[in-house]
Amino acid sequence: MSTANILIVEDELVTRNMLKSVFEAEGYNVLEANDGDQMQQIIKENSNINLIIMDINLPGKNGLLLARELRENQNIALIFLTGRDNEVDKILGLEIGADDYITKPFNPRELTIRIRNLLTRTMQENLYFEEVREKVENYKFNGWTLEIDSRSLISPNGDLFKLPRSEFRAILHFIENPGKIQTRAELLLKMTGRELKAHDRTVDVTIRRIRKHFESIPEAPEIIATIHGEGYRFCGQIE
Ligand code: CA
Repeated sequence: MSTANILIVEDELVTRNMLKSVFEAEGYNVLEANDGDQMQQIIKENSNINLIIMDINLPGKNGLLLARELRENQNIALIFLTGRDNEVDKILGLEIGADDYITKPFNPRELTIRIRNLLTRTMQENLYFEEVREKVENYKFNGWTLEIDSRSLISPNGDLFKLPRSEFRAILHFIENPGKIQTRAELLLKMTGRELKAHDRTVDVTIRRIRKHFESIPEAPEIIATIHGEGYRFCGQIE
């Protein structure tokens, strides 16, 4: 694997420098941004960023807002930095689609392990998507098309929804296991690689977003059913 490129988005210079030295000691290339505008600029100029580590408290747009924008058109792995006591930020961050979070003050050893694991997982996942793409260009069900290459969902009317990572992974997993009940724990693991913990509503939030796409067609049949006490089931008709 070539050296990974990590972008740090943090306005506190002390923290940024500490992260930078930890990552450089591990052999990663490090880029730095002070706020969201700088982050966007760096992403535009560097197409090869593998991972972003971003503080939530930033001048201008905060990290949660930036993450939501990022997730709409980027698939870069994302880790949040949060304050120790801010449970709400942690939960929101994961729901928006961050892959992990690190609590400040952080332990450098733990941080490097989490980073390494996430980079490995992202790489394996990209290989998996390539394998899927070699098998099929798209999946069709109930007039909808899931396009593998662009990770988009196209409605029977031709409206295109570019899917954030978690939504794409969930739909792909549903389609590959039609009719089978998926528990929240299974779905979360497929979507994020995380173990399900109390208060983690990521799966339900993601399903709600997916259903919103499907509901753009009036009187559409149910495509993802809630199985009470168990999880969710894909009931679309795959063509
Ligand atoms: Ca900050």
